[in-house]
Amino acid sequence: MRIGQGRDLHRLEEGRRLILGGIEIPFTKGCVAHSDGDVLVHAVIDAIFGAAALGDIGSHFPDTDPAYRGADSMDLLAKAVRLLNAEGYRLVNVDSTVTLEKPKLRAFIEPIRISLARVLRIEPGSVSVKAKTNEGLDAAGRGEAVEAQAVVLIKKHRNR
Ligand code: MG
Repeated sequence: MRIGQGRDLHRLEEGRRLILGGIEIPFTKGCVAHSDGDVLVHAVIDAIFGAAALGDIGSHFPDTDPAYRGADSMDLLAKAVRLLNAEGYRLVNVDSTVTLEKPKLRAFIEPIRISLARVLRIEPGSVSVKAKTNEGLDAAGRGEAVEAQAVVLIKKHRNR
């Protein structure tokens, strides 16, 4: 067994789409990013790569590469899982936290868990997504950014 952690932060701007875990959240602001700006998925991808010591999201999907402009982060997540499986590991569970002042994410937590579980190819019961505010403090608290943290556990099921 091995663990990995990941974190990401994106600036929020008016008129952009806000996508978390592959689910579009209705809001006036969204993420400024090269890809679709799915900060939660980016944190999970980094946790997966971290657990297997396979580098990071930037080394696999560089934001200088036009191929990833507007990329669907769920496609990148699927690729990360395939790379993990190719190393002989399977994913055991994911725990994550999204820090966002507004809007409230409560109603979206279940759809996000199901969405992530489908691409991670594990049960929704093995995918935890928690939402917090920052009590009005720092960039996330002022509504200028959204942040996500994730940890994953992986298990070796065969040698490469
Ligand atoms: Mg990112």
